Amino acid sequence: MKIRYVDGRICSPGTIFCIGRNYTAHVAELGNTPAETPVIFCKPMTALNTSGFIDLPTFSEEVHYETELLVLLGKGGKDISREDARAHIDGFGVGLDLTARDIQKKLQAKGLPWELAKGFDGAACVSDFVPASHFPHLEDIRFRMTFNGQLRQSGQTAMMRFAIDEQIAFLSRHFTLRAGDMLFTGTPEGVGRLQSGDRLSLMLGQNLVRADFQVR
Ligand code: ZN
Repeated sequence: MKIRYVDGRICSPGTIFCIGRNYTAHVAELGNTPAETPVIFCKPMTALNTSGFIDLPTFSEEVHYETELLVLLGKGGKDISREDARAHIDGFGVGLDLTARDIQKKLQAKGLPWELAKGFDGAACVSDFVPASHFPHLEDIRFRMTFNGQLRQSGQTAMMRFAIDEQIAFLSRHFTLRAGDMLFTGTPEGVGRLQSGDRLSLMLGQNLVRADFQVR
């Protein structure tokens, strides 16, 4: 599968890294405690979804949407400093970190990893990407999602607990990052359940890119 830029460029996707519990109001709505360091998990490549459709997995009764800003790396590296992080970003997008919340709650209760709840086929819905040059300030990037025509989630990077450059620096201390790697940077509050027929529209900035997904 390929990912696209709004200017027509195409990119081969790498690892899908996700940051959990990165907005305080969302941490509170799920009854979790704020993390001292970024909460990291990954999704397999088969989770990547650019189809415009969401197929709910059969093993869950409660799949949630989480609308998140996406960061696409154009350059890899190891031990990247916060100061250098910006130069590694090639694009921004908006996506859905689909989560089987019932499964996640069971795993969390046992202290187990979340991949079974987060890594299923199609669980990483992504928009096309906007070149990073459109966003001169990392701390002022906004995104939103309408759910069946009504505004349901909106976020801005200034509200993140761990800023984008901090996320890249942290990840690169633990993993070698590569061009094409993608970050799901955490969801603001307002997550909720998906049902067949729901329509979600994701928007980045002032309509720089829009992606529509329908639940089948
Ligand atoms: Zn998430």
